[in-house]
Amino acid sequence: MGDNMAEIKCDVAILGGGPAGLTAAIYCARYNLNTVIIEKDQWGGKLNIIHDLVNYPGFNAHDGSLLATTMVQQVNDLGVTMINESMDDVEINETIILRNGSTTVIADDLILACGSKPVRSSIENASKFIGHGVSFCATCDAMFFKGKHVAVYGDNALAVKEATHLSHIVEHVSFVTPLDHNDPMVDGLNHLDNVTLIDHGKIIAVHGMDHVESVEIKTTNGLTTLNVSALFPYEQAEGSLQFLKVYGIQNANGFITVDDKMATYIPHVYAIGDIVVKPLRQVVTATHDGAIAALSVFESHHKG
Ligand SMILES: Cc1cc2nc3c(=O)[nH]c(=O)nc-3n(C[C@H](O)[C@H](O)[C@H](O)COP(=O)(O)OP(=O)(O)OC[C@H]3O[C@@H](n4cnc5c(N)ncnc54)[C@H](O)[C@@H]3O)c2cc1C
Repeated sequence: MGDNMAEIKCDVAILGGGPAGLTAAIYCARYNLNTVIIEKDQWGGKLNIIHDLVNYPGFNAHDGSLLATTMVQQVNDLGVTMINESMDDVEINETIILRNGSTTVIADDLILACGSKPVRSSIENASKFIGHGVSFCATCDAMFFKGKHVAVYGDNALAVKEATHLSHIVEHVSFVTPLDHNDPMVDGLNHLDNVTLIDHGKIIAVHGMDHVESVEIKTTNGLTTLNVSALFPYEQAEGSLQFLKVYGIQNANGFITVDDKMATYIPHVYAIGDIVVKPLRQVVTATHDGAIAALSVFESHHKG
């Protein structure tokens, strides 16, 4: 180890400083655990990109970064060691070692709170319309399109789930998918009255002035334009911990299965928030996970 390498020993290290990790840090500190939290980018994670945070009790339609600032303040006030560096080298043995070129953290327990990869879409113009009709979260944004016609694009379970959710709120959903309409993945959508399935299709572009007005679809019959008020693209969703592949802790998409204590199959390693295999990725479920994981770490420390 180089002379300038800082070494920090702690009871628990939390990797990721979004709402899940910050909540875990608050509860760990309250349990009197010596806690280190590591964030490679901006404290607060995705809270910083939510301009109108909805569905979080007591905090309606405010800028998510406000909530991030308050959470960070709480963590700081509780004396948690906060490291604002990337740490992608993780060794899990009897103790857990996290390191980068300048810092080594040695912990008894590890809580993985790294979220999911920033969502993106390869559809032309999609990124330009994020927040103006392109959304990756039906739970967050469906209400903005009540009474409207929207398009959903994808070939996976998340796309189907989001389309089903939207069908209860918006007037009509056009579900565009490269799959066949008889494929078991999308078959359930055939039974919903206000969902039209456009199979063997690919959305190639989004058009509009200030807001989404239409999508361009390529099917076996050629190119068509569909007038819609929104597009929910679900081409890819990936956990962000590819560097942990070696431990076989993640599924094919990079997400982690945990039990009801937020424990992974590896002793002393927990996972929380969006990185976890779960039915709903929201701030409220992320904070829930953080509180439970902290309790699990506390209990494992007091087993003797
Ligand atoms: C556009 C958009 C709008 C949304 N709107 C809402 C809403 O209105 N209401 C709601 O409840 N939810 C909303 N969500 C969902 C919500 O943002 C997430 O469910 C929540 O942020 C998950 O928290 P998390 O802590 O698990 O992950 P994140 O918020 O993603 O935080 C993870 C953190 O880990 C850090 N990290 C990753 N890898 C490493 C590493 N190797 N080392 C150190 N740090 C690392 C990342 O930099 C990041 O800061 C929205 C999401 C998006 C994308």
